[in-house]
Amino acid sequence: MHRQWHRVLLRLASAGMVACALLGTANAVEVVSDPTAFLEQTEGVRTTDHPRFLRMLAQIHDEAPELTSAQRWYLRYLDAWQLAFEGDTSKANAMLRDIMDHSGDVTLQAKATALLMHNYGLGNRYEDAFGLANQLASDLPSISDRLARFTVLSNLSQLMMFAEQSDLAIKYARMMEDSLPPGESLCNPLSIEVAALNNSGKLTSSSQKLLEAIDTCTAAGQPVFAETLMLIKGDLYLSEDQPAKTLELIHRILPGINANGYYSHMRAAQVQLGQAYEKLSDDNNARKAALAVLSMSGQDEVSQWVRNAYEVLYKVEKKRGNAAASLAYYEHFVAQDKGYLNDVSARSLAYATVQQHLLAQRLEAEGLSKQNNILRLQQQLDTKAVETSRLYIAFLIMLMVSIVFWLFRIKRSQLRFKMLSYQDSLTGIYNHQHFVSEADRVLHQTERKSGAACLISIDLDHFKLINDTHGHAVGDVVLRHTVALCRRQLRPTDLFGRLGGEEFGILLPDCTREQGVAIADRIRAAIESTPVDGDGRLVTFSASIGLASTDSSGYELGLLRKEADAALYRAKRTGRNRVIADTELHGMARA
Ligand code: GH3
Ligand code: MG
Ligand code: MG
Repeated sequence: MHRQWHRVLLRLASAGMVACALLGTANAVEVVSDPTAFLEQTEGVRTTDHPRFLRMLAQIHDEAPELTSAQRWYLRYLDAWQLAFEGDTSKANAMLRDIMDHSGDVTLQAKATALLMHNYGLGNRYEDAFGLANQLASDLPSISDRLARFTVLSNLSQLMMFAEQSDLAIKYARMMEDSLPPGESLCNPLSIEVAALNNSGKLTSSSQKLLEAIDTCTAAGQPVFAETLMLIKGDLYLSEDQPAKTLELIHRILPGINANGYYSHMRAAQVQLGQAYEKLSDDNNARKAALAVLSMSGQDEVSQWVRNAYEVLYKVEKKRGNAAASLAYYEHFVAQDKGYLNDVSARSLAYATVQQHLLAQRLEAEGLSKQNNILRLQQQLDTKAVETSRLYIAFLIMLMVSIVFWLFRIKRSQLRFKMLSYQDSLTGIYNHQHFVSEADRVLHQTERKSGAACLISIDLDHFKLINDTHGHAVGDVVLRHTVALCRRQLRPTDLFGRLGGEEFGILLPDCTREQGVAIADRIRAAIESTPVDGDGRLVTFSASIGLASTDSSGYELGLLRKEADAALYRAKRTGRNRVIADTELHGMARA
């Protein structure tokens, strides 16, 4: 039964009654000198002094002052409001849509949206109404105009009540209380909050909030809101089984309600009278009041008031024993009840549908973002995989490099060992053994191509004396110095080895005897003329050289050595510091 009050409030407040308390009914100058101020004044009187509103609206159209774009949109909004007031909602709604879509004025857009939502609510276009409610709720933070914000909150609260969403309705009502525009009283938000509390069954006839709201509205000079609240109180008395109190209350406020002539209140008062009388078994008065409600209602109207009136009537006729009349009224009551409940469930259903739709959108958005997250994760994993494989490649390269390096080191040390095994440790040239094997190999090659080669044997003269005179270390210096001097006279293909102590062997491939003797003599001359520094004293020394050629000795190393040694021996015997070739051994001329 209490549910009818939100519809009363919806009609009262949504259409902009909020504004009238603020702007009042001050006598306007009625001259369009300042169009914006004039438009604001016009809007301010639209519910408090509707005839004046119509005059001012006509005036601004007739005088057709030069209007800015913003002022033209404002005027269009007032025109739409008037059309809605007259009942031409389809035309009004089209204009409101235009204002919402094209005015570009946030405040005006909010007002237009609120009015359109209101029209949809009254026109049973619940889904459209709740869709706009969602839009308004999300636009709310950007609505800075306090009056527009207040109006929007008021509309939202009432629409939520309409959708049986009492908690949301209470929330919006409290937001209204917290953002009261200057000059506005708490009457409107308190009334809406009380209605919402009543809807959710949280109110009793003695609730502090209810009494506070009645006092506030009375003090603020808002008799219509005060009446609404008192009618709620009357309803509460009925549900608390205190019909006498309802009767007392209604009789007290009925003169004021009749004076104001607000149709919804008049019917509500009669319904409560009927119900109270019926409970108190004053059947005549109960019937009278109920019939008064029906006479005030339209033929096909389905509402709480009509439903309750029929309920009173069928109970009265039943008590009187008029079975036929009782049954007829009962049928009406059931039809009304069903119709009303259908309407209530249609509203709840529409609200739930819109919310589900929103929820689905949000879930879809979340789903998409989840999908995006998955894709991003996938990319991250791919990147990781690339990084990992890069790491593997880098690791493999490092492994290969270190293997190569390791192999190189092995090879190098092998080579070093090999070199060591080939080298004479003091001078770095071939040792005796390697010289022999290498010389053997080269001689065989030379033999195959029938080339010529020379073998030179070098022995330092009186080397023992150098050691004895200057010391063994200086002797070593002399040996290394000798090697260096020889190398300067040799080609890369020549083989050079230390055959023992201060004896050296040189194999000169592709070399005639004459060329060999010349090389040997240059070596001898270099040794003779290049002393070494032995501890501050110059040490002069010489060498004796014997030479053998493949021309006469053949390609056998043994034979060649024998011949060269024989020549060397002769060089020693014939005075040292000289070169003797094998030819001289056999009586040939010295080269
Ligand atoms: P000759 O002119 O007749 O050849 O006289 P020589 O003193 O050179 O002859 P001998 O063969 O008697 O002396 C060779 C000396 O060379 C003996 C040895 O102490 C010395 N000798 C051998 N190997 C080395 C060496 O590696 N370093 C030094 N400092 N002396 C060495
Ligand atoms: Mg010697
Ligand atoms: Mg010697």
